[in-house]
Amino acid sequence: MPSKKSDFLNYICQTSPHPVGLEIERALSATLYTTDGKSYLDFISGIGVANIGFTHPAVVEAVKAQVEKYTHVMVYGEYVQAPQVALAKKLISLLPDVFEQVYFTNSGTEANEGALKLAKKYTGRKKLISFENSFHGDSQGSCAVTGREIYRKPFEPLLPGVSFLPFNDIPALDAITEDIAAVITEPIQGEGGMRVPDVDFLVKLRTRCDETGALLIFDEVQTGFARTGKLFAMEHFDIAPDIVTLAKGMGGGMPLGGFAASKKIMATFSTNPPLSHVTTFGGHPVSCAAGLAGLEVILKENLTEKAETDGHYIRKKLRELAKQNIGIREIRGKGLMIGLEVTDPQIAERCVQGAFDRGVILGWTLHSDTVIRIMPPLILSREEIDRGLKAIAESLGGALNK
Ligand code: PLP
Repeated sequence: MPSKKSDFLNYICQTSPHPVGLEIERALSATLYTTDGKSYLDFISGIGVANIGFTHPAVVEAVKAQVEKYTHVMVYGEYVQAPQVALAKKLISLLPDVFEQVYFTNSGTEANEGALKLAKKYTGRKKLISFENSFHGDSQGSCAVTGREIYRKPFEPLLPGVSFLPFNDIPALDAITEDIAAVITEPIQGEGGMRVPDVDFLVKLRTRCDETGALLIFDEVQTGFARTGKLFAMEHFDIAPDIVTLAKGMGGGMPLGGFAASKKIMATFSTNPPLSHVTTFGGHPVSCAAGLAGLEVILKENLTEKAETDGHYIRKKLRELAKQNIGIREIRGKGLMIGLEVTDPQIAERCVQGAFDRGVILGWTLHSDTVIRIMPPLILSREEIDRGLKAIAESLGGALNK
């Protein structure tokens, strides 16, 4: 009988020549358990999703309760579905005041699609600006504003009228003019290598958008839900965009995304023509119930503060490690969104593989083969953090200070 692994390789469309290929039995808290009896501490949260850990009991409970009431009942926006309404209300209470309504999607790329369409329709303009080394998803609109040519090229023609500016470069912002519908950016670039821009850059970006009438979209798909030590990364910069997009940690492990804006901007979707932007499954009641339960865990357990404290601790330990001349170039990030840049791709490879062999999952960021992604669940214990750090240190040929 063929193993599940060979069926996986045979029947599941492969997106890379070397998938990790762990055969998952179950996942709980920060740990993945595999069918061969091993366990792995996940230091990348399934790529930024498991902020509250895997299979959180509060989420499981909420999912069970909702599944027993109803699953899908109607396409988006027609029926009053309590889980959607409750989550939207909660999110609006936690976002800056400019945000008044939420549109739910199934994913981050769909959230960005919706936000871009909304900005074009609201402003009546066609052109878009994004930044080099950004990542916004893989649908054609989100791909069109993703700032790395090798990912766009095979799929062109994509959206016309998109230009890319260097990230964190204030003079370049003069390219934002009165014919721009929207400027989209991650407040902290994730796949670009965990790059935190200067406050002045985002302040100037906000000002330039105000001056020209271009809408500012913050893609908080990766940075949202306490990942960076604030509930949303925009809080670090004290700036509110016109539209914010969310996903990943939003569903507590279930597929859920969304974007929020003012009522005035959101009203564009319901006229000329009505139903300008609809979705069958967006805001699925089970995902929304899970999302609300997950958000309550973040708030109750004060995971924003914990992410901030643990992030400081990890970066401090990594800085100590960097002094041992083992190929660490830079340590970046905020909260538990950390990039460990090494001097050579082979060192990164050795670190990721070495940690894996020691039962700790690490990864790269999409646009860089020298940046190691450190993005553990926010609920990690100090003992687990130290275990992960020890695996990193050993695989780089260093030793962790006590
Ligand atoms: N935006 C950002 C900043 C992301 O990091 C990602 C995914 O990594 C996306 C959008 C796409 O989200 P999804 O994979 O849910 O479509």
